[in-house]
Amino acid sequence: MLTIALSKGRILQQTLPLLEKSGIEINNINSRKLVLNTNLNEIKVIIIRATDVPIFVQHGVADIGVTGKDMLIEHGANGVFELLDLKIAKCKLMIASEPEKKLQKNTLKIATKYIEATKNHFENKSQQVEIIKLNGAIELAPKIGLSDCIVDLVATGNTLKANGLVAVENIMDISSRLIVNTAAFKTKNAEIKKLVETINKII
Ligand code: AMP
Repeated sequence: MLTIALSKGRILQQTLPLLEKSGIEINNINSRKLVLNTNLNEIKVIIIRATDVPIFVQHGVADIGVTGKDMLIEHGANGVFELLDLKIAKCKLMIASEPEKKLQKNTLKIATKYIEATKNHFENKSQQVEIIKLNGAIELAPKIGLSDCIVDLVATGNTLKANGLVAVENIMDISSRLIVNTAAFKTKNAEIKKLVETINKII
C-alpha cells in the first residue's frame, strides 16, 4: 500500500492531470473525507495543506508527497528525499517593495511567511535583517509601515501590482516537488520507483 499526500488548491489542480496520465484516478475527490481511495487498490491519497505535506511524509503517515519547494525549505526537509521536480505550480520567491523605496539600510525590516528562505538569502549577502512573520496579507506590510519590503511568492505579478508594490529581486524559482519518506524509500523501493519512473516520463 502507498499513501500519497497532496497539497490542496492550485498545486492539486496541476497534480491531478499528472496522476491521471500515470493511471491514478482519485475516487470522490469532492467529498469531505480526508483519506481518499483511488482506482488502484494499492494507492490511497490524503489531501492537506501544502505546509503539512512535508510533516506527514517525514513522519511516515504518507509515503510520498507533492508540495512546493518553498514549503520544503521552510520545513527543512528532514526525513524526506526530494525525488522529482514536477515542474508545476511554478512561481518565484521575490523581494518586493514600494517603488523607489530605499533598501540600503543597516537592518532591513522584512515581512514574510518564508522565514528560512529569507534568512538564508540575506545571510549570504551579509545583510542584517529583522524578519516579521506574517501568515497572510503580506503585501499590506510596507503600506502600513510594518516593514521596508516583503518576501513572497509571485506568479503573474498581479497581487504585487494591485497593492502598489514592485519586484526588486528574484530569490529563487519555485515549483512543486515529489518527496518520499526516507524509510519508505527503502522498504517500499520497488513500488515507489515504479511510480516515480512513470511520473518522470510524463514530465
Ligand atoms: P500572482 O498575483 O499571480 O503573482 O500570485 C501571487 C499570490 O499567489 C501570492 O499571494 C502567492 O502567495 C500566491 N501564489 C502564487 N503562486 C503560488 C504557488 N505556486 N504556490 C502557492 N502560492 C502561490
